[in-house]
Amino acid sequence: MSLPLERDQIQHVTEELELIIAAHLAWFKQFNRTLVCGGTVNRTDLAEDAHLRSPFGQWYHSREPHPLADTPDFHDLGVTQQAMHAAARLALLEVMDQRRPDPTLYDECIDLALRLNTTLRRIQLETIGELLTTDSLTGCATRRGMLLRLREEQERAARIQRPCCLCLMDFDRFKRVNDELGHPAGDAVLRQGIRFVTGSLRKYDSIYRYGGEEFLICLPGNPMQDAALVVERIREGLERLPIRLDNGDTCHVTASFGLAEMDQRRPVEEAIACADMALIRAKESGRNRIELWRGD
Ligand code: GH3
Ligand code: MG
Ligand code: MG
Repeated sequence: MSLPLERDQIQHVTEELELIIAAHLAWFKQFNRTLVCGGTVNRTDLAEDAHLRSPFGQWYHSREPHPLADTPDFHDLGVTQQAMHAAARLALLEVMDQRRPDPTLYDECIDLALRLNTTLRRIQLETIGELLTTDSLTGCATRRGMLLRLREEQERAARIQRPCCLCLMDFDRFKRVNDELGHPAGDAVLRQGIRFVTGSLRKYDSIYRYGGEEFLICLPGNPMQDAALVVERIREGLERLPIRLDNGDTCHVTASFGLAEMDQRRPVEEAIACADMALIRAKESGRNRIELWRGD
């Protein structure tokens, strides 16, 4: 399961990046001012470890590992910022010697500073974009980008010549849960139910909120019979799961499941439609069960 950032982390990272961008632009303005207008050179910028001393450097190299530390863009930030300070230092040393910096060196400083700004903004936008791809109630991925990721799974399955199954899951008689226990109880069922399902999946499985109380699970690596065992464990576990409500009561829910194997030569949408037909059959056969689509 890949769920990079929680909602409050997203907000924190976004605000933090805004401050870092502001600090970088303030540094950039001051640097240009010194080159163009002269005036005192900031001693910190002349140090060999200037990249560690700036506000950016202190943030980037702080002891706490950053939640985005493993991403290529975050790594790129560090490399760019260090190169920028190295070039800026040389340019400022020339100013100290009453010389104009070499144009190539100046261009290098500007390009690196702009690149740093662009990368910071891109990371910020992508972080905000996470809000659109993460469902706020259940924490699982939304439909946005789902087809793209399913197509990637399909290509991967074709490459390694392994099957990949899709499962549509729909909570049973969910309208009744809302009607009898109230909408907040319905929300609690979705939240706790999906937390249980997510915890039961293998690390390379993924789950999407497909609509209301319907979820799509992608199960790569196994033929339908084996994927059905994983889903059966989920079905049984969900049936037994006590859902805690705000008023201290508990309730129980069940769900129905439709399973289909992706055909590597046909569009992903077809496999979803097959899983949906299997789900309808599961509902018609009494709910709280799994039906497999076998192309009939
Ligand atoms: P079935 O077993 O045939 O699936 O019956 P159902 O009652 O689950 O299906 P139906 O489509 O009639 O109702 C689904 C209900 O799910 C209606 C909708 O209000 C509710 N629902 C969808 N999303 C949410 C949500 O985020 N929170 C809550 N509390 N209810 C939701
Ligand atoms: Mg339902
Ligand atoms: Mg439904």
